[in-house]
Amino acid sequence: MHRLVLAALLALTGAGAPVTAQPIDYAAERAAIGRYQDADQRLQDVGWQLAAANAPYCPRVVPGIGLQLQDMASYGVPAIARAALGLTRDFAVQTAARGSPAARAGVFTRNREIVRLERFDPNHWPAGSAMDWQRLVKAHDHVEAMLTEHGGITIGFADGAEARVQPVPVCATRFELMGEGRKAVADGSRVVIGMGFPAFDYPEEEVFAALVAHELAHNVLGHDAWLDRNGRSARNVRRIEREADRLVPWLLANAGYDPAAAVTFMTRWGSAHDAGLKLRRTHEGWDERAEAMAAELPAVRAWLTAEGQADWAQQFRREINPAESAARTGRR
Ligand SMILES: [Zn+2]
Repeated sequence: MHRLVLAALLALTGAGAPVTAQPIDYAAERAAIGRYQDADQRLQDVGWQLAAANAPYCPRVVPGIGLQLQDMASYGVPAIARAALGLTRDFAVQTAARGSPAARAGVFTRNREIVRLERFDPNHWPAGSAMDWQRLVKAHDHVEAMLTEHGGITIGFADGAEARVQPVPVCATRFELMGEGRKAVADGSRVVIGMGFPAFDYPEEEVFAALVAHELAHNVLGHDAWLDRNGRSARNVRRIEREADRLVPWLLANAGYDPAAAVTFMTRWGSAHDAGLKLRRTHEGWDERAEAMAAELPAVRAWLTAEGQADWAQQFRREINPAESAARTGRR
């Protein structure tokens, strides 16, 4: 539902195309993929910084190296994507998140072809003919399994070089960029953000980070599972939205961002999209949401000054009882 779909690739090869073959503009395809990769880099950099810095407080932590792969099978027309990027196989480096073990290794350059993840060559795994995103998930799952079982992974490149990378603990959330759409969602294990989300255009990294932190907050506070157990009433959604908003300054502060960027984000995004928000009973007005975020700042700053970190696992006041499970009413 949210996987990589590049408009340029579809426009050139879609069902509406004339039967006579059009020449493929590979430079345009490469540029479109490049824009997607730039946006993904921005998301992975910010996501990594938040997930690594807040690992001491997250309820579930996994070993991570900050490496994002790409698989040509996930494109609408893999052969075009492969040719546009000059690849002979399907797997290559997408991003190495800034400051991550993968980035520090210095060898995971964009589009560098990968032929080995520990003992397996993922290019040999079967894939569908187009839009197959499952194989990329399998590759990332495999990397995580190797890190968990062996405390590291050896990754081989098509040119014969290889690198051994050791992980660090990160909050158990994966960050995924959707090739289209303006939505941002958190499903418990992933944060998925559409390339069209307005915050991608915000120049300040910390203001974009506030959006990512809001979605990460839903996962680390267990909101999706809580809503599953207690129902997605407008009242319940308002409560978890408020709780996610209020955690944003804490997550930002630990990651080295100005916690007040939370308020800047909500004010800028909310005032630009106010009309749409007012129609939704599940969300408070953006001004109330910005106020709730601002109200956290004194505590966050006090903990930063005293401890150098803002321990939200201990100090954050919850809006919900995370263990709560509504009695069955028979209504659902
Ligand atoms: Zn939310």
